[in-house]
Amino acid sequence: MKKFLIKSLFVFALTLLVFSCDNSKIEDKSMSSDKHEGTHVKKQDCNDVHWSHHEGEEGPAHWKDLCDAFAACGGQAQSPINIVTNETSVGTNLNQIQIHYDSTPVDIINNGHTVQFNVSGNNTITLGEKEYKLLQFHYHAASEHTINGNHYPIEVHFVNQYSDSDYSVVGAMFEEGTANELFTEYLAEFPESKGEYTSENTIDLEKLLPSNLDYYYYIGSLTTPPCSEIVNWYVLKTPIKASKEQIEKFAGILHHNYRPVMPLNDRKVLSYNK
Ligand SMILES: [Zn+2]
Repeated sequence: MKKFLIKSLFVFALTLLVFSCDNSKIEDKSMSSDKHEGTHVKKQDCNDVHWSHHEGEEGPAHWKDLCDAFAACGGQAQSPINIVTNETSVGTNLNQIQIHYDSTPVDIINNGHTVQFNVSGNNTITLGEKEYKLLQFHYHAASEHTINGNHYPIEVHFVNQYSDSDYSVVGAMFEEGTANELFTEYLAEFPESKGEYTSENTIDLEKLLPSNLDYYYYIGSLTTPPCSEIVNWYVLKTPIKASKEQIEKFAGILHHNYRPVMPLNDRKVLSYNK
């Protein structure tokens, strides 16, 4: 049985602790003093700062100026990027992604910036010697990364954490095709505006990924403020399928929640094939 639950403040506080696209807690260093840059006074605290994916004063071009803790948004190793496939090189030191995701209960949250699935339990990926724990996954429409200049309609990000300064995000593109099982089950329940849906069912997380896990790799950032440059990006080469209707409905809920691509600067994109 599924039901809507009004979350207690306690649970709400817990969800705030979970790393999210919309969570400045990850680099929540309060500022000690006002900074004056010409006539522009930066806000001291980023906690209550509004930001948007859409053009305007709170849009991506201005994130770095909204408050001090968003300054990384103007950094040199930002995400997403355009991946030019014939300019990538083979990563000889890269590892196969070992997925150890289970059937897991999830809370589905529309936080105003994305639809996010917060997961509990011990779901991990192993990359070489390191084990990263899955915290949540969420969606962008259109895709944030572009491949040879082209967007896909949707991109999902699986956010895995090793430490406060070491994340591995697995990104997968969606393309039109057969209906997607997860969407078939949950699309009708996705909160269309800010809100939360708690399912008593579990999701078999491993089924959400394509069977071929070949990827492009580069070092980048969170794609939302505070844009911390703490992310190993694994952008999967094989897209996931969803039906045209599913993609259109979900993209409507997500409402253009992608950051435009950022300059590669002196970074390299590596390619891994099993
Ligand atoms: Zn994301």
